[in-house]
Amino acid sequence: MTIEVARSIPEIRNIVAKAKQDGRTVGLVPTMGGLHAGHLSLIERAGSLCDHVVVSVFVNPTQFNRKEDFENYPGNEAEDLKVLSGTCTNSVFAPSATEVYPEGFATSVTVSTGDKILCDAHRPGHFDGVATVVTKLFLQTGADIACFGEKDYQQLFIVKRLVADLNIPIRIEPVPTVRETDGLALSSRNARLTPEERLLATRLHRALEQVADAVRGGEAASLAIAKAQTWLESDNRFDVEYLEMRSGKTLEILERPDEQDEPRVFIAANLGKVRLIDNIAV
Ligand code: AMP
Repeated sequence: MTIEVARSIPEIRNIVAKAKQDGRTVGLVPTMGGLHAGHLSLIERAGSLCDHVVVSVFVNPTQFNRKEDFENYPGNEAEDLKVLSGTCTNSVFAPSATEVYPEGFATSVTVSTGDKILCDAHRPGHFDGVATVVTKLFLQTGADIACFGEKDYQQLFIVKRLVADLNIPIRIEPVPTVRETDGLALSSRNARLTPEERLLATRLHRALEQVADAVRGGEAASLAIAKAQTWLESDNRFDVEYLEMRSGKTLEILERPDEQDEPRVFIAANLGKVRLIDNIAV
C-alpha cells in the first residue's frame, strides 16, 4: 500500500477530509519516530478500530526538558517510512518544527492535576509540551480515535483528562506495553544503551515485579519498594527517580493494593545516560 506523506497542516486536513467524505473513520497514532514493535501494536489497534490510519512522526521540541536528550533522540525518517510501509498505515503526518510552532506561537496547554508527581516532578514542563502538541494533533487531524501506549501511563492519564476537559471529540484508546523477551519495555531510547547497560536494563522490570509480588503477598508498598530500590541501586548503575505504587484510576499513592483502585507500580530510573520508565498493573 502506498502511504501518503503530509508535511503541512492543510495537506493532512485534506487527506482526512477525503477519508471522511468516503465515510471512513480515522485513527491517529502520535509518535516521535524511532519506530519499534510498541508503536506497531498501536498502529495495529488503530487499524482494527478505524478505516484510515494516520501516524504522526514529529519529535516535539517543547516536551524535552533536557537539550541533550532532544539532540540525541533517535530519528531516521527514511527508516520509519520503510517500517510503516509494512503496516496498515494509510497516511503519515511528518511536519517540520516551524509548521507546528510558527514564529509568534504563544499558546501552551497545561493539565493541572494537582501535585507534581511521577515524571511531572522530574521533567519540568514536559507534560505542557505533550498536552500542547497532542491538542494540536487532535485538532489538525480531526481523528475519531487516538491510540496511546500504557508504557507512558501518566501521559495517557493527562491526555484523557485534556480531551474530557476541552470537549475534544476523540476517543482515547489505551494499548498495553510491548516488551522484549527479558521484560524490558520497548522504547526508542533503548537504542542508546550500551550492550552492557542493555543487559542490566531488564532489572527495571524485575524491580516492578518484585514490588507487585510483595504487595500481592500482603507486604506494605513502602517496605516492598525500599527493598526493590536497594536491590536495583546496589551496584551503583541505576539512579532511581521514583518507584511507587499508585492508583491507575486517580494516580493517588497507595500503600495497599485494593482492586477497585486498579493499582499499578511505576518506575523511572537513569541507567548511564538513558532515562528509562516503565509501569505494570499489580
Ligand atoms: P513515542 O514515540 O515514544 O513518543 O511513543 C509514541 C506512542 O507509542 C506513545 O503512545 C507511547 O506510549 C507508545 N509506546 C512507546 N513504547 C511502547 C511500548 N513498548 N508498548 C506500547 N506502546 C508504546
